[in-house]
Amino acid sequence: MFPESTSPSDSDPVPIARLADPVEQLYQELEAKIREYRPKDDLTALEKAFRFASKYHEGQLRSSGEPYMAHPVMVAHILADMRMDVVAMETGLLHDVVEDTSVTVEQVRKEFGPEVARCVDGVTKLSKLDVFSAEDRQAESVRKMLLAMVEDIRVILVKLADRIHNMRTLGYLSPERRERIARETIEIYAPIAHRLGMGKVRGELEDLAFQHLEPDAYEEIMGAIESKRHSNEEFLVEIRQTVESELRREGIPARIDGRVKRPYSVFQKLRRQKISLDQVYDLMALRILTDSVKNCYAALGVIHNKWRPIPGRIKDFIAIPRPNLYQSLHTSVVGPHGQTFEVQIRTEEMHRIAEEGIAAHWKYKEGRKGPAADDQRIAWLRHLVEWQRDVQDPGEFMSTLKVDLYPEEVYTFTPRGKVIVLPRDATPIDFAYAIHSDVGSTCVGAKVNSRIVPLRSTLKNGDIVEIMTQASHEPSKDWLAFVKTSRARNKIKHLINAGERVKAIEIGQKYLEKEARRLGVQLSKVTKADMERVSAEYGLSKMEDLHAALGYGKFSARQVLAKIAPGVVKEEEPEIPRPYVAEAPTPAGAPGTARGKDGDGVIKVRGVDDLMVYRAKCCNPIRGEAIVGYVTRGKGVAVHSKACPNVQNLMYDVERKIEVEWARAAEDSFPVRIIVHTDDRPGMLNQLTSVLSAENTNIRSLEAKTETDHDGGVVEMTVDVRDKKQLEKLVATMRRISGVRDVERLFH
Ligand code: MN
Repeated sequence: MFPESTSPSDSDPVPIARLADPVEQLYQELEAKIREYRPKDDLTALEKAFRFASKYHEGQLRSSGEPYMAHPVMVAHILADMRMDVVAMETGLLHDVVEDTSVTVEQVRKEFGPEVARCVDGVTKLSKLDVFSAEDRQAESVRKMLLAMVEDIRVILVKLADRIHNMRTLGYLSPERRERIARETIEIYAPIAHRLGMGKVRGELEDLAFQHLEPDAYEEIMGAIESKRHSNEEFLVEIRQTVESELRREGIPARIDGRVKRPYSVFQKLRRQKISLDQVYDLMALRILTDSVKNCYAALGVIHNKWRPIPGRIKDFIAIPRPNLYQSLHTSVVGPHGQTFEVQIRTEEMHRIAEEGIAAHWKYKEGRKGPAADDQRIAWLRHLVEWQRDVQDPGEFMSTLKVDLYPEEVYTFTPRGKVIVLPRDATPIDFAYAIHSDVGSTCVGAKVNSRIVPLRSTLKNGDIVEIMTQASHEPSKDWLAFVKTSRARNKIKHLINAGERVKAIEIGQKYLEKEARRLGVQLSKVTKADMERVSAEYGLSKMEDLHAALGYGKFSARQVLAKIAPGVVKEEEPEIPRPYVAEAPTPAGAPGTARGKDGDGVIKVRGVDDLMVYRAKCCNPIRGEAIVGYVTRGKGVAVHSKACPNVQNLMYDVERKIEVEWARAAEDSFPVRIIVHTDDRPGMLNQLTSVLSAENTNIRSLEAKTETDHDGGVVEMTVDVRDKKQLEKLVATMRRISGVRDVERLFH
């Protein structure tokens, strides 16, 4: 037991003196209420929860001036009225301790076990959620999210009970807070209750909120109901007696319930039908509850035999249930004094489902989804109904029930409580783009529930996602592999293309400058107007576009220079194959440029055809080798062998990594430098060259040296090979020559 502030050594859990305490009294009433419907339940844990919460809420007051603890006890009362289990009521008693006191979820777990802790945690999370930020009312999303993010439906039920009590005591708050809470109730919580089929809870929430939101309309409707109360009541008594005796005569067992309609539903009717209050004739309704479907129809027959039905107002939701499983017969008839009233007829079972929260009405009025999604939800509801029938113990029923109402969506939110609805398996990148494309594009990292996660991780319901951005950052191509939303995909593609254009402009400009120097054109003397004239000749409006086109390899620099300086450069002049120089990359596929021995058109950048590509001189990769591209600053794409040690150093900047592959055209060959270590003996060189010519390998250069430090010789050569296979074969053949100690490939 917990030490009491007044008498810490007190061992009696319920000392007589404490009964004077109104909160204590309320608690004792709660226990009594529970014992009525769960006489066998052990309430030790419940009392422990009460003492625990009382201790931590000690000294806190509600706006009404009552001790704070009165609120959680009343919440537990409401849950008891719903016939909830002990875990739910413990949660009700503890629902505010984590949010409003120093208690942690961990502490709740230690004291009350994992189930209660999980529920308290769930309720706390819902409370922290600013589901109703004024700028951004996403009622539908919020409702869905609330339902989707709880794993245990008891969390929602405790939250609804909390809301009912807060609404009942709303009068003590400032008008602003009152309006805000009432609006949240009518837009979020009442529809949730409705969706869960909890007709009674929904009704109370709506009427309480209505009272605060539309005080004038509320007064008017209540006034009208009140002024007719006497005659209405008399009328209901009369009708009821008639129906009772008629049904008894037919041998139909029935419970009859006469009622005045709820003020909010009258208000909605006024608004929907655009009529005034005195045109609402059926403020009253009669409900007949019987034992079987057969007797429902029999009762309908009796009613129609007695009073004239209004055509078009007979609705058979038993033969054709509403898609949400609501079942009932509805009819409106003209009563004995010409008054119209509505009669609903259903079985006790159908009634329980409609009132207690099993038949969810949500699809009828709010469902917007396609048939597949609906089928799943209906299946869920059907299960709900079946379980409810099978499982005697409602506690067991509740704890086996996991909510997954929206399996195709995931509900996440920003640190400020805005809901972001994403497809299942969406990633932080999708989230970032859903907020704003700038946030997406500059995203460098993400925190989910305050923890840093990989950008490719998937988000779960209820995740709070914080995106870390960096102004200069650009989206990575890799993201395309895992983003789920088309919005993110399109934005990333767009930006990558734009980024590649920037690179192409840079490359094109360098290329033009280099060629100009080589061909003796002084670009500095060319005016901007001249440049633009030349651009226009290519159908391009800006110089930038011309540079980009050069960078993409659409034209050769020579062609462009011939137009810029016709006196210096002739367009028709045959191309002189240029030696391969890494610093002066050749645009891949540029017409008129060399594609021969050193041609780099043999490598393609995957997905982007026209980027300038060159083989890195550090590893000089040849066809067939695994390669990787690296976007250099202003020099195009350097292609390295994947085995190249430089690659490891370069790839820290993964953003600049680009996938490349060998193009299909296999005519080209690559110069490769090879060193052969041999015994120093005559005839060695001859043997080597004959092997090479037997293999049909062109030798570009060959030089034999004698190593001075030991008794061997070294032959250094450059040979042309088509691909890795050919090179490997060549090396193997050379190694088989007697006297060859080793064959080595030089990379620079
Ligand atoms: Mn509360």
